[in-house]
Amino acid sequence: MEVIIGKDLLRELDSYLKSNNVKKVYIITDENLNSLYMDYLLKHIKAYDVFTYIIKPGEGSKSIETTLSIYDDLIGKNIDRGTIIMGFGGGVVGDIAGFVASTYMRGLKYIQIPTSLLAQVDSSIGGKVGIDYRGLKNIIGSFYFPEITLIQLDFLKTLPTREITCGLGEILKYGLIYDYNFFQYVSSNIDKIYDRNLEVLLPIVKRSVAIKEEIVGKDRYDKGIRRILNFGHTIGHSIEALYDFGKYNHGEAVILGILYESYIAKKKGLIEKAYFEEIYKVLNKLVPLIQFSQREVERLIPIMQKDKKNEDGKIAFVLPTGTGRVDLFYDVEEGIIMDSLKGEWIDY
Ligand code: ADP
Ligand code: ZN
Repeated sequence: MEVIIGKDLLRELDSYLKSNNVKKVYIITDENLNSLYMDYLLKHIKAYDVFTYIIKPGEGSKSIETTLSIYDDLIGKNIDRGTIIMGFGGGVVGDIAGFVASTYMRGLKYIQIPTSLLAQVDSSIGGKVGIDYRGLKNIIGSFYFPEITLIQLDFLKTLPTREITCGLGEILKYGLIYDYNFFQYVSSNIDKIYDRNLEVLLPIVKRSVAIKEEIVGKDRYDKGIRRILNFGHTIGHSIEALYDFGKYNHGEAVILGILYESYIAKKKGLIEKAYFEEIYKVLNKLVPLIQFSQREVERLIPIMQKDKKNEDGKIAFVLPTGTGRVDLFYDVEEGIIMDSLKGEWIDY
């Protein structure tokens, strides 16, 4: 398991395939990546037998139906354990390609080339793979670690702006849970990130990957400290679900979640007002806060109560307790959650 970050990495891919004596490569990608980069990718792997499976872009493809069609295709093409599966795309492609790789014939070797900012800094690290079922995100899945992960920053040049915001949500989260200096560095370089300035993106992607690897390394199977990665996600998930995953994408919802959860921390006296205001100023520019109505709040809270991270029916929250520090809480009063979501405090 190796993560390589930089530019022009396809040479590394060739040397990996050569030294591991790979003959066949089965690429899973989506339509967008296929039209943007497939010629370029194929040029670098001419020497191998290459198969491609192209899915429709978007979360809707992370389904059991898509998975079954890929199994059919693998069987139809006599793909065996000597073949390596390659996920080439964003988080959706990575999750489904990794899941197929982990299950087909009890596991095929797997390489990933994440192309979205979110996938590069978050979903490609940590081995979680899976699909959605009955409207439940990642309800079927496993832990499966790729042989190699190639993070090529140039791909970000074609990434839609909204997807940059999405990745930024998780990047800012890393700073707030683990490294306050990093939070400040990212905050003061937001414009350059949106300009796809690779000199700025390189250290940011590297540090994000390092933080996630460090946390995951201490708790591979999500039993303890790894849970701090859920900062912003208790409320974030409920907001995504409130709109049936149609209004906000994951990273945008996480940005909102961080804002509301930081307010809860301030209200509980865990952090200073000045720190809360600093967080608010940076994040509110990326995704403006909403003031939820009483009716919406009454729908959001039950969604949080069903979160699989809860214990004994108590909603689990990761809350900031100081600059670059967070902790787990199970005792947040419903009244504070409601106040936070109603956003009547927005007077900055
Ligand atoms: P995420 O990576 O945010 O989990 P997706 O896999 O759905 O989610 O990717 C988000 C969108 O960005 C998809 O429409 C995907 O096709 C597109 N995409 C991913 N990487 C790139 C890229 N490098 N250039 C252009 N579009 C991309
Ligand atoms: Zn997330």
